[in-house]
Amino acid sequence: MFSLGKPPTCEKCRSNITLSQYTLRTRLCGKCIEKIKREKEKFQKLLGLDNLVINIIPIYDAHSTSSMENGVRTIEYCYNHPEYELIHELGHFLLSEKTKYEKFVSPPPSKCNKEIFFYSNAILDDFTDSNWVEIDNLYTYYMKYIKVILSRMKNIPTQATLGSILEGFLKFYISFNYIIRKDDKKKLQVELTNALEILKKYCINQSILIYKKTRLNTKIFKFIEAELSKFETVKDTSDNKIITKFMYNVLRLIPFLSENILKNEIKLIYP
Ligand SMILES: [Zn+2]
Ligand SMILES: [Zn+2]
Repeated sequence: MFSLGKPPTCEKCRSNITLSQYTLRTRLCGKCIEKIKREKEKFQKLLGLDNLVINIIPIYDAHSTSSMENGVRTIEYCYNHPEYELIHELGHFLLSEKTKYEKFVSPPPSKCNKEIFFYSNAILDDFTDSNWVEIDNLYTYYMKYIKVILSRMKNIPTQATLGSILEGFLKFYISFNYIIRKDDKKKLQVELTNALEILKKYCINQSILIYKKTRLNTKIFKFIEAELSKFETVKDTSDNKIITKFMYNVLRLIPFLSENILKNEIKLIYP
């Protein structure tokens, strides 16, 4: 809320701005909005996507997302988060172009099981990132983001849900093993291994509390890891069916997801 008498200021450069510019989701001045647009264009060019019209809405209050609805491509980019998020969202369009499959940038169908959507999306994010980390100096942005994430993984907040941490495990198991370059992997080996162990332990303990018979355990994680390890053999595919099959093969190992529901949901989310 605005305090009376105090003119609103831009969240980036602190210059005064008019109320009309201070819209609900973007608290930036025109100059700072232009700067973000130029940055998007720079990354878009590097990704070879300059033939596409991709709108960008800078937001301050949520995670970044990409969408394609009725042929209109939009990125909502949270400008308080690392630039990785902007490149990552562009990466969804890159993957979608490569596979000729729009659903890799579409928001989930309103009726789908959101838990399954988020697990599958965590895996999709690795396919998205592995497509652009090799481009010019974009890997630097990836590593900057990984270092921020790594420091956060040391202490998982007690209110974290099992779903959100399991999602993190699926995404970062692949990232730490198959996206990060060998020299960085070597340098960060202890931290990377510890972080994955912390996520795993949290998932196991939470699942004991929530699910009794269908809980996670170390043996199940071994199977999940073995399945995730197949990422290397499929990561370059341009066949969307291979990607969704990979997701399905991993998610079917999660004991508290019913295989029938999973099958239907994957068909619904990625028809
Ligand atoms: Zn500004
Ligand atoms: Zn994503």
